[in-house]
Amino acid sequence: MIEHERLLAMLTRLKLTAVRDQLDSLLDEAARRELTLRETLAFLCEREIAHKDQRRIQMATSIAHFPRVATLEGFDFSAQPSVDARQVRELAACRWIAHGENVLFLGPPGVGKTHLAIALGREAIVAGYSVLFATAPALVASLARAHLEGRLEERLIHFAKPRLLIVDELGSLPFEPNAAHLFFQLVSRRYERGSFLITSNRTVSEWGVVFGDVVVATAILDRLLHHSHVITIRGESYRLKDKRRAGMQLHQHPNSPTSTVHQPT
Ligand code: ADP
Ligand code: MG
Repeated sequence: MIEHERLLAMLTRLKLTAVRDQLDSLLDEAARRELTLRETLAFLCEREIAHKDQRRIQMATSIAHFPRVATLEGFDFSAQPSVDARQVRELAACRWIAHGENVLFLGPPGVGKTHLAIALGREAIVAGYSVLFATAPALVASLARAHLEGRLEERLIHFAKPRLLIVDELGSLPFEPNAAHLFFQLVSRRYERGSFLITSNRTVSEWGVVFGDVVVATAILDRLLHHSHVITIRGESYRLKDKRRAGMQLHQHPNSPTSTVHQPT
């Protein structure tokens, strides 16, 4: 009994908490499988490492502030033929993050930009990179507030630190006059050091309008596009497709150029 207590204390001191907490069942299993001493040691190490990896992923995922859960396995590539599944799986290997490159997902609402951004963010965490997710309006508002309060430097450091910064919905709202300059400072600071993953419903040529300043927009694009993978997603919203499958139909209003969804009567 004293031997057992002593073993638990040593496992605690070595921070082998998974082995400590399941010691009896792990040793029983090793005995049942008739593992050699060497195999048993490897088995215990594997369990400890698996547990530590899982905890690290959980922790990094909560720090990343993803708005929801989305995975690559949950992305239906057959429903989105304009996305090259092979290219996305290649990006999931995270070599672009190792090289400080950027990814841009461009396309209309509902085509899966945010879904893929979160899914690739998850893959980056599994691969051991730090990730932070923010919407463009929230990011810019946070920089603007910090600027007003004389804490801009601190905020720039915060957003420059993660190896991957996901900026979702760029262009969903036009930038305030000073915002483009603040965003430019962040882009310069991360340039060739950390990766951006940006989603936008605007084409790159419209970014001058989004930023409200063609000169700053050009400088931003220059840096973002220098080492980048631009993926343009076409097609209709996945949500609308779902609704159609559920029996709703898309009608064109006779007097309006925009389509609306009607429930068949
Ligand atoms: P976007 O950011 O382009 O506006 P989202 O990524 O938010 O679009 O996608 C809208 C919804 O449809 C989300 O719930 C998303 O998970 C789902 N979705 C979009 N495309 C696909 C797809 N190809 N397979 C599975 N779910 C999808
Ligand atoms: Mg989105």
